[in-house]
Amino acid sequence: MTAQIATRRNDVSVFETMESEVRLYCRKFPVVFNRARGAELYAEDGRTYLDFFCGAGSLNYGHNHPHIKRQLAAYLEADGLMHGLDMHTAAKRGFLTRFQEVVLEPRGLDHKVQFCGPTGTDAVEAALKLARKATGRSGIVSFTGAYHGMSRGSLAVTGGRRARAAGGMHSGDVTFVPYEDGPFGAFDSIGYLERLLADSSSGMDIPAAVIVEPLQMEGGVYPASREWLRGLRELTSRHGILLICDEIQAGCGRTGTFFCFEHAEIEPDIITLSKSISGYGLPMSLTIFKRALDVWAPGEHTGTFRGNQLAFVAAGAALDVWRRTDFRTNLAVATRGLTRFGDAVAEGEPAVRVRGRGMALGIDLGRAGGAKRADLVQKQCFDGGLIVELSGRQDEVVKVMPPLTIDPARMRRGLDILDTALTATR
Ligand code: PMP
Repeated sequence: MTAQIATRRNDVSVFETMESEVRLYCRKFPVVFNRARGAELYAEDGRTYLDFFCGAGSLNYGHNHPHIKRQLAAYLEADGLMHGLDMHTAAKRGFLTRFQEVVLEPRGLDHKVQFCGPTGTDAVEAALKLARKATGRSGIVSFTGAYHGMSRGSLAVTGGRRARAAGGMHSGDVTFVPYEDGPFGAFDSIGYLERLLADSSSGMDIPAAVIVEPLQMEGGVYPASREWLRGLRELTSRHGILLICDEIQAGCGRTGTFFCFEHAEIEPDIITLSKSISGYGLPMSLTIFKRALDVWAPGEHTGTFRGNQLAFVAAGAALDVWRRTDFRTNLAVATRGLTRFGDAVAEGEPAVRVRGRGMALGIDLGRAGGAKRADLVQKQCFDGGLIVELSGRQDEVVKVMPPLTIDPARMRRGLDILDTALTATR
């Protein structure tokens, strides 16, 4: 039996027989990928796909960026330490030093860094636990449309009913408030929260923290406005509530600034980062928080894989790329191209709502064919050689996230495929 398994090109039988029904993305893109470079993925049958999904935001620098790859290869070749729990290692020191120099210091952030492990959800778990411990309160405010992860704590602050049901969640001490915008229209979230906090009979205790995505990606690509985020910061500060910004998907340069919240010029108390922080698709997750909040006792939030040394090496190298002028110039050109495309789509079909920021674009087909059309668009894109993912409450939004490093020719080619699919399904 084993000998017969998966030897033909694009043979997916081993996955279908052995892998759990929980698998998701492979169903939408049913080929076997074996190589990738820059904006392109290659399947075993020789087909090339442009990747405008980027590992759900983990590959902002594209696949196998040459500068990062060289540093990784050198580290491996030199027998660099591969597993280090949370011990002091040269690789971790290299990352921390560069993170301080490139990210924290220039933004005037005096935050401490906690390495969580190994993926985004654990950074959220740590953020929530720390907020509760530091304030001695248990309530958390989250927003409709939010996505923060699939483990118990992060799922509790995630909006989706289906995901919550699968995790056996109930609302508990989490209060959901409508986000600034969503499929049901605009909402005065700040005014509503203000009212709940001011009214001693509102039924809501003063929460430990508010957790927010400055740009909701899974919720359907809804960017929060500068005013809304500033209002949220002002309100939380005034009531002594911690503000957690989840930058896991929209951070690390996706929206043009390193953190998405920078657009609003606010300073969150706690920030979660993962996905593209390692720049190479290696698992890494961080919770960073104001110095005064560091109330952890040693080992209170621990884990075996909080020290992925290769991820530290890659993350340091990725910050080199982030600093480069040619990278910035390319990013500006790519962003203009994507924005122009979004504007043209909105103009050509007014029922389509187009939203986004920087290199994150959402094409909302909610009132223009809905989830059925979005599914068709995704399939046609894939057939045409382009990978895009859907988001939103019913998967009605086409989420477009090309690598930040994409060249104009490939950008054009990808957007042409998407345009053809949108036109064909009109
Ligand atoms: N927060 C946000 C905003 C996310 O987009 C995600 C992942 N899509 C997570 C948290 C959870 O990260 P992970 O899947 O790596 O656990």
